[in-house]
Order: sequence, then C-alpha cells, then structure tokens
Amino acid sequence: MARYTGPVCRLCRREGVKLFLKGDRCYTQKCAIEKGRATPGQHGQSRKKVTEYGMQLREKQKTRRIYGMMEKQFKLTFNKAERQKGVVGENFLVMLERRMDNVVFRLGFANSRSEARQLVRHNHFNLNGHKANIPSILVKPGDVIGVKDKSKDSPKFKALKELAATKTVPAWLEADAEAMTGRVVTMPTRDSIDLPVQEHLIVELYSR
Ligand code: SF4
Repeated sequence: MARYTGPVCRLCRREGVKLFLKGDRCYTQKCAIEKGRATPGQHGQSRKKVTEYGMQLREKQKTRRIYGMMEKQFKLTFNKAERQKGVVGENFLVMLERRMDNVVFRLGFANSRSEARQLVRHNHFNLNGHKANIPSILVKPGDVIGVKDKSKDSPKFKALKELAATKTVPAWLEADAEAMTGRVVTMPTRDSIDLPVQEHLIVELYSR
C-alpha cells in the first residue's frame, strides 16, 4: 500500500497547523510549528489571496495528511460516505476515525497514526481475537482490539504500554493499558472527533 515517505514536518508547515505526525516530538518545543517555521518552498513567505477552491483544497489535503492516506483511498472512502444516509461530511469523518490504524493511535498503542499503521501492518494486533493486519479495516461497536501476546513482551510495546497508561482516550473507546486491549464502546460522532477540520469544504471540493 502506497504511503507518503517524505519529511512530515513539511506537511504541517504547508498547512500552517500541527498535524501531530511525528509522535513525541510534536509535543515539544522542537516542533517546527512551535518554532514558527514558515510555509515551505521558495515562495512560502509570500502572501497570496486564497481562492475558494484553494481553501477547499487545503482542507482536504490537511485531513488526508492527518489520517496519512493517499488521494485514491481517501476519495474512495469519501464515495462510500456519500452513499450512506445522513450528513456526508460527518459520515466521512466518522469513517476515517473508525479505521483500525486510527483506533490503535487513539487508544495510545502508538505514538502517531503512521506508527500505528506500521504496527498493524506488521501483525502486532488482533481484532476480536483474529489476525488483523489491514490498517483500513473499519471497527464497529463491540469490537476488541488487542496487542498480540508475543508482541507484548517486546521493548517497543513495553514503552508503548507506559504511553497508553497516560493517554486519555475518546469517549467512544475504552482502553485497558495494563492488558494492552481496547474496546469500541459506540460509534464515534462528529462531536467526539477533536480535529481542526471543516469537512463541509471537502464535500464542496469533491462536489465540483
Ligand atoms: Fe507537525 Fe509534529 Fe513536526 Fe510539529 S513536530 S511540525 S506537529 S509533525
């Protein structure tokens, strides 16, 4: 599965907000946004009038980068959200939030979504007791996500266990840091997704 492998702080600088792509570093003063680093590129500092299309595009890119997805997969998810009943933008964000890699990150079992994705791909997690190594699997209420027994004793997961113990999980999830398991209590709602995203702009962009 394709993924972005370039410098991630550059993506935050491009969007002008913290996207929390680098784990621990994002919470320190070493963060490029904290340091006030400008938009990357030769003309990064120049002020340009942002068009309506430009705003919609930036919102879409920002959201796609937060979840670490490539355009094709992102658009496919949007198409599925469009076919559901309800508000398209909200359906879309809820689907992104239900992704297995995002849930592993939200439970505190990874420092970032990209790390969560890698750990899922490398077979360190079970879903309802079964192998689950596809980051795009959508979880549902009642699902139980757990670190595999043979992975729990690795130094990596011992460190992540300490992280999970300090992390506050969203209300739609329940985590047991000691056992390294998590449960989906209910479906996420728009209110429970604490991201600086204006999803209606993405809907407008894809409706053009
Ligand atoms: Fe973004 Fe984290 Fe880099 Fe800060 S440290 S610019 S939040 S990826």
